[in-house]
This record gives sequence, C-alpha cells and structure tokens, in this order.
Amino acid sequence: MSGSSSAVDAAVIPDGTTDYIPMRSTKQDLKKTHISELPMTWGNWYKHINWLNTFFVVIMPMLGFIAAYWVPLHRYTALFAIFYYVHCGLGITAGYHRLWAHTSYKATLPLKIYLAACGAGAVQGSARWWSMKHRAHHRYTDTVKDPYSVRKGLLYSHLGWMVMKQDPKRAGRTDVTDLNEDPVVVWQHRHYLKCVITMAVLVPTLVCGLGWGDWYGGYIYAGLLRICFIQQATFCVNSLAHWLGDQPFDDRNSPRDHFFTALVTLGEGYHNFHHEFPSDYRNAIEWYQYDPTKWSIALWKFFGLAYDLKQFRANEIEKGRVQQMQKKLDKKRAGLDWGTPLEQLPVVNWDDYVEQAKNGKALIAVAGVIHDVTDFIKDHPGGKALIKSGIGKDATAIFNGGVYNHSNAAHNLLSTMRVGVLRGGCEVEIWKRAQFENKDITYMNDSEGQRIVRAGSQVTKVSQPIASADAA
Ligand SMILES: [Zn+2]
Ligand SMILES: [Zn+2]
Repeated sequence: MSGSSSAVDAAVIPDGTTDYIPMRSTKQDLKKTHISELPMTWGNWYKHINWLNTFFVVIMPMLGFIAAYWVPLHRYTALFAIFYYVHCGLGITAGYHRLWAHTSYKATLPLKIYLAACGAGAVQGSARWWSMKHRAHHRYTDTVKDPYSVRKGLLYSHLGWMVMKQDPKRAGRTDVTDLNEDPVVVWQHRHYLKCVITMAVLVPTLVCGLGWGDWYGGYIYAGLLRICFIQQATFCVNSLAHWLGDQPFDDRNSPRDHFFTALVTLGEGYHNFHHEFPSDYRNAIEWYQYDPTKWSIALWKFFGLAYDLKQFRANEIEKGRVQQMQKKLDKKRAGLDWGTPLEQLPVVNWDDYVEQAKNGKALIAVAGVIHDVTDFIKDHPGGKALIKSGIGKDATAIFNGGVYNHSNAAHNLLSTMRVGVLRGGCEVEIWKRAQFENKDITYMNDSEGQRIVRAGSQVTKVSQPIASADAA
C-alpha cells in the first residue's frame, strides 16, 4: 500500500535513470532493531500497526458499512458498482498481476493506461509496489521472505501482512528493472495518491451523482464498499488459494486450485497451475474452467490491444501433471504389502527346502521363491488338495499354467507369503548374488524407494505359460 512515499521514489529512480536499485525506504535505519522484532505489549501495540495500510483496508471499509445504514441503495448505483467492480478487478488481475508482475503478455499504451487507472481504483498500492511484492511471493513462496506466506497463518496471508509492520531486512528482493522502464508504471507510482482519489472515489461519485443524482450512494456503494469487496477478493488469492483445493501439478508448496477461489477472483483460483507456470497468460487451461481474466486478454488480443500472449506447451504442462500423479501413486503403493523384499530373504538349499516340507511345513517353491502357505491352504479357491500337491516341490509349472494359469491377483497374494529363495533358483538368486557383488541391476524403484511390481511382471510369473506333462 505504501507505494507512493517520496523516500521510496528517491531510492528507486534517483536521477531519472533506469538502473536497478533495490527498493528500500531511506527512512529506515537497518542497524536499529525493527519494531516487528519486539514482542507486542500494551505499551507498544500501536507501533506494530501499519496505520496507512490499516486505514485503506480496514478503517475505510468499516466507515463505508456504517454510512450505508443511512444511505439507501439505488438500483442504478448497484448495477454501476458491479460494472465498476469488474473493471477495477481486471486492473488488478489482468494488469497488476498478469501484465506487470508476470509479463505474460504485452499491452499497447491505451490498454496499459486503462489497466493502471482501473488498478488504482482497486486501492491495492501502485502497480510497481504490488508487482514487486508479488514477484517476491513467487520467488520465495512459503519461506520467511515470502511477503504473504500462508505458513504464518491464513489470516496473516490475507490481511495481517499489510496491517502489521514488516521488517524490511526480511523482505525478499526482486528485480523490477523492466517496471522502472515502463512509463505508465512509473507515472502511476509517482502520482499514486492522486490516481487513487480520482479512480476509487471521484469517478464513482461523479458517475452516480451526475448520472441519476445519487451522490452519497455513488460514494458509499460504488466507492467505499466496492473497494472493500475488491480488496477482500484479491486478498483471497494470497490466503484461500494457498489453503483450499487440489494440487494437480506440485504439492511441495502451498498453492492450490479451487473453483470457488477462481469465482471470487475473476479466474485467479487455479493457483497451483499458476505457481508452476507463472508466465502463462492463463490461470485456467481448460475451456470449461472459469477464468474471465484470460478471456479478457484474449478479447483484447482480438482487438489488437494485447499481443505476445505467453503460453506453456501442453506437453510441458502434462509432464508436471503426470509426475504429480506418479507421486501420489507411489505414496499409495508404499502403503501396501508387497511381500518381504527378495534381497531380505534367506537363501535355502533345495534339500533343506524338501526336508522342511517333509517335516510338516507347508512350503511351496515357485520360480525359485519359497512360500509358506500354511494359513492359506483352507482358503485356496482351487481347493485344499491341489495346493497341497505342490508342497515340497517346484510348483513353477503348476502355478503358471500347468494346472491353472493363476491370475495377477494370485501372484500378488503369493508374494506376501514368501519366506526364502532357493539356491540356484532361476533368476531370483542370480539377481540376489549380483546385489551382493554390487553389480548394476536396474530394477525400477519409485520415489519412495520401493521396487515397482507391475501386473504380469511379478517374480513368480513365468512369461511363457508352461504346459508340462509331469505337472498335469
Ligand atoms: Zn501464490
Ligand atoms: Zn502470480
């Protein structure tokens, strides 16, 4: 909000040059302890408050609500307030956010002037100040340098970061050289207060007053209360969009996609996508998703007012989506019982295996892996007799088609019963030996470090069904 102080201006563009100088108020002595580092007490609480911002985002809307009690709402004023709300909203979403903070498209001078004027009408600071904070938010998302980090609480990310004084030493730095070269941005920043008074208060009051004689209504409803709603809607992008919804592209940070957030923010609610692809002029990529800001930019392009619209290739977007799906899948896989990993099983000699089976242990060897089926005999869908016939034998052929070509589910279930590996048992022991000798074996592991067992590639599955005469 405090984008127009002259001290800041002087630090930004000292002599009309456009060199990049980090924006920092010269009023602040960085060596002194900042008020935000001190605990809040009854004696100093008012020093913690940023009163300028508090006036614009808390006190002014409250005055509007109180005054509304005495001023009836005229129908035309209501319609104009909504109309003006949408334009000022676009000033923020299409102007401040997608054009200046992210340079996701280019705008002609008339469009820039329109967006800067409407943006001022939303009372959210100058385009330059807003974009700088927002670039820091993207660069340092969820860290202490994120100006409105949701990790500090939902209310903090929504309003608290503006109402409370912030330590300038903690502010994440960003490059705004391009904005210093934009005459519309520089002009709006320098004349910010005049722009706000004109666009936020004078214009709506004059339109309603001259138009249908509703001076007070224009000031209260199309002015103060409209500002309040527009501010709250934008603040939802910092709070709600980092708290409510899905994370289809990446779940390592807080941004989320939700239709509701999109609804109240002219389409800025697909925030997980936006943080992954910030310079895309779209927030919603599907045609049926609600993103009127994107539709407006496309319309301006049609009329020649906007150009160079940036868009990520569908291939890149899909890669992100697939990786996130894979991650979720791996998590799910990690929660399942796939049987003891082969490398953790003891190696058993054939004779020992036969001996143990003779001594009453219900052991069955399939493809070099020994399984203890004691608890399963009574549940075997093919009957007790058949499963018992495999005990103490090499049942690879029986299991893989000799008697019955077992299902994928049966191979999965069998793996949960494995207790050992036969010495010289087909591929299994060769694989185990290579493990010990540190040979390079490329078994696919997922991101949780678990071996991926695909349907049909279980260790007990023999690729060519065996039709052996002795087995039958
Ligand atoms: Zn965000
Ligand atoms: Zn953004």
